[in-house]
Amino acid sequence: MDRRTFLAQTTLVAIGLSGCAGFRSRAAVVALPRRKAVIVIGAGLAGLAAAFELIEAGYDVTVLEASERPGGRVRTLREPFSQGLYAEAGATVIPDHHDFAMRYVRLFDLPLGPFAPRVSGRLYYVRGRALRVTRGTPIPWPFDLTSEEERLGLAGMREKYVDSLLPDLGDVAAPDWPADPRLEAYDRMSGEEFLRSRGASPGAVALMRIGYFDLLGDGLESYSALSMLRDLALARKQRQTFAIVGGNDRLPAAFASRMAEQMRYRTPVVRIEPAPDSVGVITRDGDGFRRWRADHLVVAIPFSVLRTVEVSPPFSRPKQAAINGLPYTSITRVFFQVRRRFWNDRQLPSFATTDLLSTWIFEPTVSQQGSSAILACEAGGGQARRLMALPDQERVALAIEEVEHVYQGLRANVELTASICWDRDEWARGAYCWFRPGQMRSMLPHIVASEGGIHFAGEHASAWPGWMQGALSSGVRAALEIIEGR
Ligand SMILES: Cc1cc2nc3c(=O)[nH]c(=O)nc-3n(C[C@H](O)[C@H](O)[C@H](O)COP(=O)(O)OP(=O)(O)OC[C@H]3O[C@@H](n4cnc5c(N)ncnc54)[C@H](O)[C@@H]3O)c2cc1C
Repeated sequence: MDRRTFLAQTTLVAIGLSGCAGFRSRAAVVALPRRKAVIVIGAGLAGLAAAFELIEAGYDVTVLEASERPGGRVRTLREPFSQGLYAEAGATVIPDHHDFAMRYVRLFDLPLGPFAPRVSGRLYYVRGRALRVTRGTPIPWPFDLTSEEERLGLAGMREKYVDSLLPDLGDVAAPDWPADPRLEAYDRMSGEEFLRSRGASPGAVALMRIGYFDLLGDGLESYSALSMLRDLALARKQRQTFAIVGGNDRLPAAFASRMAEQMRYRTPVVRIEPAPDSVGVITRDGDGFRRWRADHLVVAIPFSVLRTVEVSPPFSRPKQAAINGLPYTSITRVFFQVRRRFWNDRQLPSFATTDLLSTWIFEPTVSQQGSSAILACEAGGGQARRLMALPDQERVALAIEEVEHVYQGLRANVELTASICWDRDEWARGAYCWFRPGQMRSMLPHIVASEGGIHFAGEHASAWPGWMQGALSSGVRAALEIIEGR
């Protein structure tokens, strides 16, 4: 159906005036015009994309956002850094094949810069040794590998044990994937069981898990092998990664500036009231509460937060089970502003993978000018929670001690520090969703499915969990569900 047809469709949207049981009775009148009304909860990229497309289609949209800014887990840190430097607390790179992300970046005319180390290759710090990895050069890995694995090297092992299987997975971005029952076995296995089942030796598993494989969930043993395989299958087309010049938060800001009239900040939703022909929503409003009503609702907040929102009458049992049971990865990042890029003295790449608490070390300022720069390190899962449990100064001190093993000279060059623990963010409660063994096939359909006039968006409700692409594509999908009456 033509988007503009909806301009012609008018529906009286009645707004309840009374207070509601369990909430204070101070409710305000919110007068919405006589068009099909949609409330979007959450101004992350999922909610923003849904709202943007629905406005284009002629709907009367209101976006209710708990915090004072758009973007959610796309958050650029400019403070406490100086000299115009910035770093990303959350979403960092845009892979070139992420078509939804690229489409909106282009639509809003946002400039992209490459996000890759200026010196090629990757640094590994494992078992107390620093190793420089460049394509085609044999590395004396301090792991007990078979002679074949030694010959294959890290890239060859990845190809043999993992990548060679990816074409068999089918179209992993298709809405009904993973319907093929043959994939069930991979869903029941953990990532570690999968690698072992493919013939990887214990030494190869110990080496391969460092970095990517251990950064999701609570590490390789914790998550569904099928979720890992989907992520890798989707990444196969990636050739380059970018970041938005000036900060990735320019993308949500661009959406929000075009919808300024529809945005309501500092408006946390505390209750959802599904009804046969409409949906009610209660927000906290200063000392009181406000009631809203619309024809459709797009819920674009993480399930980690949605499980704290009252829903009455409740969602279906499988939906509520998915909301309650979907786990989120803990991520802690620590940032160091340094006087100069001291790693250049030894011609080291400014990206490293380690078996320390901070699994990943990288330079967020690769494309930024000036002599000062920022180095960041990231811990995931239990390691992130260990860092989070420390007082701020101790967290930073431990991170410096660790990164100093890899990049000697950090302590002498640090000017400013900052850290972020995503579990502590009230409106995120974790970095991104992950799937325990068995959850992909049992939960996926119930995460995405709409319930009456209520539609679900967010990275978790997409084929690209943990990516801006996932958030944006799910927002567009939710908008289309409404536009097409699905
Ligand atoms: C550490 C980290 C690294 C990442 N790296 C990358 C990367 O390199 N590349 C990439 O593409 N992606 C990356 N991501 C993932 C990306 O940031 C997310 O997938 C995406 O931003 C999620 O968008 P969303 O709209 O689904 O959710 P969110 O961004 O979480 O948006 C939800 C919004 O809802 C609001 N909200 C929550 N509760 C309520 C409520 N009760 N009422 C009203 N509003 C509410 C929140 O304040 C928030 O604004 C990373 C994320 C993290 C945390």
